[in-house]
Amino acid sequence: MILLDPLGRRIDYLRMSVTGRCNLRCIYCLPRDSRCCAPGALHLDSRLIFSVAQAAMHYGLQKIRLTGGEPLLRDDVIDIVRTLKQMGVPDLSMTTNGVLLAGVAPALKAAGLDRINVSLDSLDPDAYTRITGGGSLPPVMDAIDAAADAGLLPVKINVVPLRGVNDSEAAGFAALTIDRPVHVRFIELMPAGHKNSGMESLAVPSVETMEKVATAFRRQGRRLLFEGEGGSSRNYRLEGAKGIIGFISPISNHFCGRCNRMRLTSSGKLRPCLFSADELEITPGASPDEVENILKQAVLRKPAGRKTGSAIPGRMSSIGG
Ligand code: SAM
Repeated sequence: MILLDPLGRRIDYLRMSVTGRCNLRCIYCLPRDSRCCAPGALHLDSRLIFSVAQAAMHYGLQKIRLTGGEPLLRDDVIDIVRTLKQMGVPDLSMTTNGVLLAGVAPALKAAGLDRINVSLDSLDPDAYTRITGGGSLPPVMDAIDAAADAGLLPVKINVVPLRGVNDSEAAGFAALTIDRPVHVRFIELMPAGHKNSGMESLAVPSVETMEKVATAFRRQGRRLLFEGEGGSSRNYRLEGAKGIIGFISPISNHFCGRCNRMRLTSSGKLRPCLFSADELEITPGASPDEVENILKQAVLRKPAGRKTGSAIPGRMSSIGG
C-alpha cells in the first residue's frame, strides 16, 4: 500500500524534528533572543517517533530524516536510530550541526544510520561563530571527516548563502568537493518566522551562487558540469572533482510538484506542508490504526504548493527544516 495525496504525489519521505532544542543560535533560524528552548523541554516523545514510523512503514515509507532542533542533543538518539533501522526503514539519515558529531559518528553508523547532512555556513572561524551565535568551527570540520571515516556516506554539507555574510565563500565551499567525496549543497534562504527582521534581504538566489562558483573555477580552467537532478537538488560537479555541488532552490524554483514529504514536528504534530500552518495532532496513546488514519488524513491535506511570497509559519527548530 502506498500513500498518494490529492495530486497523485507519492508521500514516502518522513522528516522528524526529534527535538526543538538546539545548541546553536543561527541568525536566520533560531535567533539568540528566542524563548523556545528551555533546557529539557521539547524533545519529541520517542513512542510517537516509532508509532508514526510504523504507520508510515505500513504505507511503503522509503526514507526518514531525523532533524530538529539538534538531534544529537538527545541522550537516546542512538537508540532511536537503532530502533528505526530494526523496524526496517530503508533509508535513514540525519541533519545535524555537527557540533557533537565527531564522537558519536561510529556509534550512529553501527546503530544503522545510513547517511548524514552537516549544516555549515562558513569556513571562516570568526564568521562561523557570528552566524551560529557562538559556535566553534574546528569540531564541526573534525566531524565531517569523522562521519566519512565512519562510513556515513555521502557526507552532505548544507550551506545557506546569506548576502554580505557568507556569500563570498561559495567558491571556497565548492573547493571542498575537489579532493573529498563530499556533497556541498547550497540551499536558498527561505522566509521563516522572521518577517520584518531584515532576514529576507539576505537571501541569495541559487543562480547567483552557481555563477560565482562557475566564474571562480573557469579562471582555473575547471568547468562546472551538470550531473543531474537528485531529489530536491540540481547537482553539478567541478571537472575532475571527487564530490558534488548541489543547488536547492525552494524559492526561485520550488519543487512542490515533486514533493514527497510529510513532517512530524517536535511538538508531535503531522505537518503536511512546510509553508502552511496546517498541522494534525496525534493524540497520546493513539492506537496503530488511529495513527495510520491521522497519517492518511495528513496526506490528503497536502496543498498543491507554496503560495508565492509566503513565509514558513512557526519555528524551523520545531518543524525541522
Ligand atoms: N540542528 C540541525 C542542523 O543545524 O542541521 C538540524 C535542524 S536545522 C533547522 C536543519 C536545516 O535547516 C539546516 O541545514 C539549516 O541551515 C536549515 N534552515 C534553517 N532555517 C532555514 C531557512 N530559513 N532557510 C533555509 N534553510 C534553513
